Amino acid sequence: MKKHNFSAGPCILPREVMDKAADAVRDLDGTGLSLIEISHRSAEFVAVMERARSLVLELMDLEGKGYEVLFLQGGASMQFLMAAYNLLETRAGYINTGTWSGKAIKEARLFGEVLEVASSEADQFRSIPKGFEVPAGLDYLHLTTNNTIFGTQFKDIPQCDAPLVADMSSDIFSRSMDFSQFGLIYAGAQKNMGPAGATLVVVREDLLGRVTRKIPSMLDYQVHISKDSMFNTPPVFAVYTSMLTLQWLKAQGGIAAMEERNAKKAKLLYSEIDLNPLFQGFAATADRSDMNATFTLTDPELKDRFDQMWKAAGINGLNGHRSVGGYRASMYNALSLESVGVLVDVMSDLERKA
Ligand SMILES: *Cc1c(COP(=O)(O)O)cnc(C)c1O
Repeated sequence: MKKHNFSAGPCILPREVMDKAADAVRDLDGTGLSLIEISHRSAEFVAVMERARSLVLELMDLEGKGYEVLFLQGGASMQFLMAAYNLLETRAGYINTGTWSGKAIKEARLFGEVLEVASSEADQFRSIPKGFEVPAGLDYLHLTTNNTIFGTQFKDIPQCDAPLVADMSSDIFSRSMDFSQFGLIYAGAQKNMGPAGATLVVVREDLLGRVTRKIPSMLDYQVHISKDSMFNTPPVFAVYTSMLTLQWLKAQGGIAAMEERNAKKAKLLYSEIDLNPLFQGFAATADRSDMNATFTLTDPELKDRFDQMWKAAGINGLNGHRSVGGYRASMYNALSLESVGVLVDVMSDLERKA
């Protein structure tokens, strides 16, 4: 039976990416060798890394604008500290929109003063803070563009004088924006780009080298840039598979086409959540994420029946994060509109039968 994978991460990838990645594990492009047994210094793999890095700049329209692309390890969680290690000299601002920004704040405090410029903690992170002042003189302002756990998303990126640093783990490549407004973008691959193990970093090079502290090589963006993201053995399988997803994305029409598809999927599901009296959205309507829709049953008694129904329909990964409960439907780029339709049918079925 076909599975409809709504998992929050690791998550669904395009079927053809999966097939090509599996082929490459057996035999990379007719070399007679596996992707995971050739040297990362081989011409074949160096070409893969270069293709992946240049596709990122192309898709984000950042070519020739002073940005460097790295595929590192350690996940977005490593970037919580690496961003601060490389950019925080005195004082940085953070917008607290939930668990992930909270973790980023905790790490940054090891390196300097951290101002919580705005927070939506008072409403259990159901919303995105608005209308706040960003103080002058920050080394950077950090935000989490999409809050995977609570299902909120910045629709408007705050403007300020300081460079913007963004954790885009769960909405990277899902919607068009002017990426040149950011000084540093990072994202764990496993939400919208590839398998776990690679972390994408896009950084404006002129922001580096300004802090006075010494930075260990493995944590220094400049060291990785000087080695073309091959300072040490890169996560070859994760980089290769991310490269395949980037090629797939380009063939689909790029980020703008993804945005259109994602908006349709989100609209379909949120309409059902709003119209069906058995369901209630968790996030404030204006701040709802197009990637992760969070919702609950209005009558908890229906839980067992609903759970049986969606599982029987081949749906996977619908349980909410353990800290929020309820349900979370993650609708990353590779999830089809058809899969969202299956979920919506189950939800309306429940209403008919309840
Ligand atoms: C999943 C996630 C993370 C953590 O990513 P790891 O790669 O597991 O470290 C950080 N930020 C956001 C927004 C996420 O969704």
